[in-house]
Amino acid sequence: MSRIVMKFGGTSVANVERIRNVAAHVKREVDAGHEVAVVVSAMSGATNQLVAWTTEASPLHDAREYDAIVSSGEQVTSGLLAIALQAIGVPARSFQGWQIPLRTDESHGAARIASIEGETLISRMTDGQVPVIAGFQGLAPNNRIATLGRGGSDTSAVAIASAVKADRCDIYTDVDGVYTTDPRIVPQARRLERIAFEEMLEMASLGAKVLQVRSVEMAMVHKVRVFVRSSFDAHDAPQVGPGGLPPGTLICDEDEIVEHQVVTGIAYSKDEAQISLRRVQDRPGVAAGVFGPLAEASINVDMIVQNVSEDGKTTDITFTLPTSDQARAIQILNAKKAEIGFEALNTEADACKVSVIGIGMRSHAGVAAQAFQALANRGVNIRAITTSEIKISVLIDTAYAELAVRTLHSVYGLDKA
Ligand code: ASP
Ligand code: MG
Repeated sequence: MSRIVMKFGGTSVANVERIRNVAAHVKREVDAGHEVAVVVSAMSGATNQLVAWTTEASPLHDAREYDAIVSSGEQVTSGLLAIALQAIGVPARSFQGWQIPLRTDESHGAARIASIEGETLISRMTDGQVPVIAGFQGLAPNNRIATLGRGGSDTSAVAIASAVKADRCDIYTDVDGVYTTDPRIVPQARRLERIAFEEMLEMASLGAKVLQVRSVEMAMVHKVRVFVRSSFDAHDAPQVGPGGLPPGTLICDEDEIVEHQVVTGIAYSKDEAQISLRRVQDRPGVAAGVFGPLAEASINVDMIVQNVSEDGKTTDITFTLPTSDQARAIQILNAKKAEIGFEALNTEADACKVSVIGIGMRSHAGVAAQAFQALANRGVNIRAITTSEIKISVLIDTAYAELAVRTLHSVYGLDKA
């Protein structure tokens, strides 16, 4: 017997019929003798609709009321699933964040989880009941509902799995796992049976949309094994595949992965903008002068490249950021031009970051050189490069994004046979 948290995303609970299908998946696990808690998202599209109404009522709205409104989608699906479970003979009860309670900090709209009391949920489970928990929401210190940021029910699920000491957190979604790269770009992409937390964190941060980045961080810190699988697979399909698990991807500690590939996956993110500050004074405090004000404006800067100055006086600093923040960043930097001390600001919008990810890189030399050569052979120009122990990222023209992803995917032998 195991204790499992099962999380179902928006497309898996899109209507009552799909909710009945979810109930059948839950019943299968209960019938197999497991203790189960379920976390649900809102029906797909519901949260967007709630956000739209909120903005329509007033573009500049009170964040506490935003949370009161947008958290309601999950309240609906938790109740509906509890009813659907009861209807097929599975004892179930819905729980809103405040009823657990799942406590958050006070940052309404993007709150962080502060603590979760697991006792109520555990005692319900040991009594044979299935708690059906509304994801995405919790209780702020001011005693009001807070939401965790878009996509936050993944984080709810992992946090709850940790709080109830679950053996596994199964995330049911509309794809059957994590792929070596985006299968829409590379049809030869393969589903990974296992991926290490650190690799998944890179994949999620770099554009793989399967899981909210924070949920992966949380899983890594609390060592929650996360299994990504499809709710569109038949609920009565055999539950044991070649790896001892049903089809899906297990996100786990690297120790659980016996054979490491050098490269596990290729991620990419479009919508990157590039800003270069030319002839910046080369003195202590300059980088802080550039990036401090951007951080204060909550602008997330990514790749940073600074040259060694030739004359000891000036240098160039180039960095990337999301296109959506480009205009704001330019405004902030130009306002501080004299203070920072740079001569010119150049910017480009159509950049794409392509990253090669794999824990195996730690113990293999030449992985980067192989990527650069492969891209050169295809005539892809690299604008900037950054690396870490388990990742190489290159910034290239968006027009070459697909070619670069395909090239790297095949060069590292990731194409399926
Ligand atoms: N319903 C919320 C959203 O659409 C949370 C989630 O689905 O994870 O962002
Ligand atoms: Mg989601």
